[in-house]
Amino acid sequence: MLTSIVGINWGDEGKGRMVDLLSEQQDIVVRYQGGNNAGHTVINERGKFILNLLPSGILRPEVVCVMGNGMAIDLEHLDKETAKLREGGIEISPKNLKISDRAILTLPYHVQLDCLEEERLAGEKYGSTRRGIGPVYGDKYLKKCIRAGDLLDLDYLAKRLKGVVAYKSLMVEGMYGAEPLVYDELLAWLKKYADMFRDYIVDTGVYLTDAVKAGKRIMFEAQLGALRDIDFGIYPYTSSSSTIAAYAPIGAGIPGVKLDEVYGVMKAYSTCVGEGPFTAEWFGEEAEELRKAGGEYGAATGRPRRVGPFDVVASRYGCRVQGADYIALTKTDILSYMKKIPICVAYDVNGKRVTEFPTGNDLIIAKPIYEYVDGWNCDISGCRTIEDMPKELIAYVKKLEELVDCKIKYVSVGAEREAYVQMF
Ligand code: GDP
Repeated sequence: MLTSIVGINWGDEGKGRMVDLLSEQQDIVVRYQGGNNAGHTVINERGKFILNLLPSGILRPEVVCVMGNGMAIDLEHLDKETAKLREGGIEISPKNLKISDRAILTLPYHVQLDCLEEERLAGEKYGSTRRGIGPVYGDKYLKKCIRAGDLLDLDYLAKRLKGVVAYKSLMVEGMYGAEPLVYDELLAWLKKYADMFRDYIVDTGVYLTDAVKAGKRIMFEAQLGALRDIDFGIYPYTSSSSTIAAYAPIGAGIPGVKLDEVYGVMKAYSTCVGEGPFTAEWFGEEAEELRKAGGEYGAATGRPRRVGPFDVVASRYGCRVQGADYIALTKTDILSYMKKIPICVAYDVNGKRVTEFPTGNDLIIAKPIYEYVDGWNCDISGCRTIEDMPKELIAYVKKLEELVDCKIKYVSVGAEREAYVQMF
């Protein structure tokens, strides 16, 4: 059984938590894109864990985690993240963590270039997490990356690095007037992490092909949401990788297989970290109240998130490009303070009512058109069955289901593992 869990919105939908919940039934959890710019928060009986780079399945000892070829891996960060998890009692070894030999590596100069470019853009910046993700994916397509598998052959690594350093130094010096890269330092950095992670690096395509043949249950975990996808998102304010479900088999190393089911994680309201058009945005007191209620501060960066009501136009588009079979609707409990709940049902673009998600300048100038529904206005965090749910909450769920044209299977009412209602 191959299941993918993806974000329907701008990211931070609560995917980590849903993966943690659904990974109970899995043998393998794979991350297939992005890098340590993720910020999945999982709360379980052992405590609160923030995962930037590792698949959320790492918190379950019986699950094998795979970091696929579609990822960009910063080994220095991986070292820190694994150390922190080990402190929390999580065991990590080559038995339960496998790194693709074809995954690209984020090197210190990618982080440096990310910061230099954001500074150059100043007022026009993209709102990057400054973790080197844009530059390393850029290098992937320029064919200037070091890949994890290169660490297994130090002579080959040294040769590859020579050419890469010569090229990147031209860029760092010429474009930004910064110091050229130091080959020996970078080689030493790579050798250090080669020693640390050598045993984890394998051909994950072979591993997963065998797993599929053996009928293992595999889950693909995405980072960010549909609206940050490099092709389908709010370009250029997107991430630099493919966040959509259709990319999961490719980024995992098994491009020939088909997914059996796609779960889309969708938030009961809208949030967005960083820059870019965000039509249903609230400002001022209204925004602060929702931000506080939802604890909407970036898990990776601590930045306050932009917030607003649920956006049907963006979310229906998100469901479509993700090919979602089912939805997990998260953070409904956060709306409990509202007597009336606004829903952005369409956009006004130059006086025209628009219901298909626009792109380019139309998206920038779009204004939200709201409808209001009754709130439940009571504590729902203890709901575990449909019978426990107030009728207004059921009506909200049914309305969103109809508007985004996708079945809502889970309604989550709190951050804890068991705080959800299964609708069917
Ligand atoms: P991700 O990047 O999509 O995994 O999202 P985050 O981890 O940044 O955001 C989810 C945050 O909301 C985490 O702190 C979760 O523990 C929390 N969370 C997830 N679902 C719910 C929910 O239904 N209610 C509440 N109150 N918190 C939730």
